[in-house]
Amino acid sequence: MRSLTNRSKIVTDKRLTFLERIYLPAILNGMQVTFSHLFRHKATINYPEKKREFAEIYRGKHVLKRDDEGRERCTACGLCAVACPAEAITMVAAERKQGEEHLYREEKYAAIYEINMLRCIFCGLCEEACPKEAIFLTRETVQSEYNREEFIYGKALLVEPLDPGKRIDISKRQTPEVLAFKKDRTRKHNK
Ligand code: SF4
Ligand code: SF4
Repeated sequence: MRSLTNRSKIVTDKRLTFLERIYLPAILNGMQVTFSHLFRHKATINYPEKKREFAEIYRGKHVLKRDDEGRERCTACGLCAVACPAEAITMVAAERKQGEEHLYREEKYAAIYEINMLRCIFCGLCEEACPKEAIFLTRETVQSEYNREEFIYGKALLVEPLDPGKRIDISKRQTPEVLAFKKDRTRKHNK
């Protein structure tokens, strides 16, 4: 039969030579390969003593952003959930009541917002789909856990801290054009 590639090897049952029977040349050959790797640049690092520097636009754990006044930006429109190819996002919307204007930016907000980190493939499509700049991926990694339930991240793990000093800076994830647009207070989007 004609072979499809030229990678096939013809196997024979010829008798082994003396050198082949004592395996010494094969062992030395293997050791030579091992030692040659000792002096090459290592592809691995000694984690957790050393940590790799992630790119500014690394796609890690999500954050639900607050606006400058500390109000949650998410309006529970569901666009991120629709855009998510892994169906990792679920939410329950609620209507903002009188007196809650300092908590939620829009009239509707996410009473429950959950991301299943085991499903998420960190593609960033939720970030791109969001019209309210409410969800961003960050350089933080998702911690390992023993139980699957621990990977369902709710608002307690997703919404950024209220303290302005502890807010998560996502400005490097946005283009200069987007940042200039956000500073324009005449835009309805920024009111
Ligand atoms: S990063 Fe991708 S997979 Fe993960 S929640 Fe967002 S859209 Fe879904
Ligand atoms: S995070 Fe953005 S896209 Fe998702 S529900 Fe909230 S406002 Fe809509």
